[in-house]
Amino acid sequence: MHDKTLTELAASLAAGEFTSRELTEHLLGRIQRHDGELNSFITVTPEQALAAADAADAARTRGEAGPLTGLPVAIKDLFCTDGVLTTAGSKMLANFVAPYDASVVERLKAAGTVSLGKANLDEFAMGSSNENSAFGAVKNPWDTSAVPGGSSGGSAAAVAAGLAPAAMGTDTGGSIRQPAAFCGITGLKPTYGRVSRWGIIAYASSLDQAGPMARTAEDCALLLNAIAGHDPRDSTCVARGVPDYREELNAPLAGLKIGLPREYFGDGLDPEVESAVREAVAVYESLGAKVREVSLPHTHYAIPAYYVIAPAEASSNLSRYDGVRFGHRCENPSDLIDLYKRSRAEGFGEEVKRRILIGTHTLSEGFFDAYYKKAQQVRRLIRQDFLDAFEEVDVLMGPASPTPAFDLGAQKDPVSMYLQDIYTIAVNLAGIPGISVPAGFVGKRPVGLQILGTHFAEQRLLNVAHQFQQATDWHLRRPQLVEESA
Ligand code: GLN
Repeated sequence: MHDKTLTELAASLAAGEFTSRELTEHLLGRIQRHDGELNSFITVTPEQALAAADAADAARTRGEAGPLTGLPVAIKDLFCTDGVLTTAGSKMLANFVAPYDASVVERLKAAGTVSLGKANLDEFAMGSSNENSAFGAVKNPWDTSAVPGGSSGGSAAAVAAGLAPAAMGTDTGGSIRQPAAFCGITGLKPTYGRVSRWGIIAYASSLDQAGPMARTAEDCALLLNAIAGHDPRDSTCVARGVPDYREELNAPLAGLKIGLPREYFGDGLDPEVESAVREAVAVYESLGAKVREVSLPHTHYAIPAYYVIAPAEASSNLSRYDGVRFGHRCENPSDLIDLYKRSRAEGFGEEVKRRILIGTHTLSEGFFDAYYKKAQQVRRLIRQDFLDAFEEVDVLMGPASPTPAFDLGAQKDPVSMYLQDIYTIAVNLAGIPGISVPAGFVGKRPVGLQILGTHFAEQRLLNVAHQFQQATDWHLRRPQLVEESA
């Protein structure tokens, strides 16, 4: 069962081959056996999962099953979940039980899915390796000496290891696409405003976006159908109709115009990753697509602009953790200032503190114009680069990450970690959608092909990704952990 895609599982449930309870019990058993080593979950919720599975089975018996009824998912522990620990991977929230569900969680529940638990992540979604979690690093199921990527590393590892057929992630600068690439699964970052951010613990509000992570593009389409759409509780969530994202999956690609951004194939790109990506592009050519080089001339400024804007927003968002209202509070504070200082000093990890310091600095009087305002101007140029490119081509393709998964502990300084997101970060600054699909291996470690489209082009991206998955079998490969075990 754990080897099937979400779409296959849906068909099996509908055909009565097994029940949601049987499927859920099977996956809970796998989590128990394998997650001691992988650490992809922070909290597993067996009682709630089995109750939801029983409710789904009962709904099916009544003839009330929808396309997602009874399907298990893992939820990144950045989404608030009613009555369940919601930690954001931080000691600050190690004791925080959310009093409500995030909109995405509410919608997944309404669609009849079964949450298995809360997936590990980098603290407050800051990181590219999942090593910044206060609950310990996650291991890559393909090679346990490697990281799974981050920040949605637990979500990606759980799917790759066959502990959950799908998971929810969030992507502020690459956190869905890069771990999807590192773990050999499919991950979609929707257009900014496509999916509600309400109830997702905020990192950088103008960049954060939730999205699905699963084995295939078809599965991502199924999940996006459930989570996309207007939400009056998030003022940046766009009131725009939600198509059936599965509808166009089989549209032929003949005549598709693909652009390869010159800047995504430069220095620092691992040659084996490059050749896997170029072979993937050749598959598209064989399907009738036309390929040309394009330029995104401001790519070079994406990381510096992001590391001004994201920390600025983070420092503001994280000011709410003051030891008074949520989460960690220090022992015996001598006065209010001592309470603030020690609660925050004890509750936040190194990387989070670094971002708060950077953000507070760039927003301070005398520096605001030089850093924050300038970064916003650069952001505008980066967005324009994409809009210009999409005048010429339908989609852009390139690597999701410059290297395959690196070893645990390998990135020693923060800047080399920041450079991991060189191909993903500009996408968030521009607000456009992107998907990473499995496209080969370097040794044991997977490679992801990133496909980008213009705003609200999710249907097109899913079509383009799905057609690749009809022509290749990279997405069907499984780590040994999945093949060998029950
Ligand atoms: N690695 C980037 C960061 O640390 C992006 C993380 C994310 O997308 N949440 O900010």
